[in-house]
Amino acid sequence: MIGFHIMTLFPDMVLNGLQTSIIGRGIERGYVEVEAVNIRDYAFNKHHKVDDYPYGGGAGMLMQAEPIYQCYQAILQRIREKGQDKPVRCIYLTPQGTVFRQEMARSLAKEEELILLCGHYEGVDERVLEEIVTDHISIGDYVLTGGELAAMVVVDAVARLVPGVLNNDASGETESFQENLLEYPQYSRPEVWHDKKVPEILLSGHHENVEKWRYEQSLIRTRERRPDLLVKNEQNN
Ligand code: SAM
Repeated sequence: MIGFHIMTLFPDMVLNGLQTSIIGRGIERGYVEVEAVNIRDYAFNKHHKVDDYPYGGGAGMLMQAEPIYQCYQAILQRIREKGQDKPVRCIYLTPQGTVFRQEMARSLAKEEELILLCGHYEGVDERVLEEIVTDHISIGDYVLTGGELAAMVVVDAVARLVPGVLNNDASGETESFQENLLEYPQYSRPEVWHDKKVPEILLSGHHENVEKWRYEQSLIRTRERRPDLLVKNEQNN
């Protein structure tokens, strides 16, 4: 069981995206809990304004520190009331973070509670980041309009590693990025499609040979498409 607490200005966007398909089923079955908390509910002015101009000038608006801090404290208090007293990691989704990788997903999947902060506009007042954030995560070297899509990416990748979320737990162990390799090609019925036949070895029923073939295919595919991963794989072996 893992609980994700997402601080956002667009809770519906996050919930709509995560309540479908496999993660949605994980939520229904109680393996995953997702709450999206509207930072605007913690604004201290009557118009629920959460942004202001950056000191020193420059384009755009910044999310202010206090509503985010209050939102974070409220979430933390609810987590503590559940009896959870361990430190809780707080992830800020930002293009300035460490680029998200499968090994990070594996590390985060060991947590019981995670708080995620989605920025918007030009970003967030640095002071609140200094006070609450433990991990800065980017989903790639490009700039999005907000952290919501990035949070959904992280939640999806982490949640599917939580035992019980995937129907077949083993499928999470034989996928791309395991041992820094991409997954081998896969085939389903029919045996022949557009004159392309499924590789003979997969029909042989010889488990050991199938495994050997798949490993070779993983190496070939990784060499072709992601040689950078292969360097890591060799360093680890
Ligand atoms: N001014 C910021 C900068 O140059 O670093 C970018 C702000 S961006 C327009 C608004 C928000 O989108 C950020 O606060 C962050 O939460 C989110 N965001 C944008 N790109 C992202 C990425 N690659 N990974 C994760 N979050 C991202």
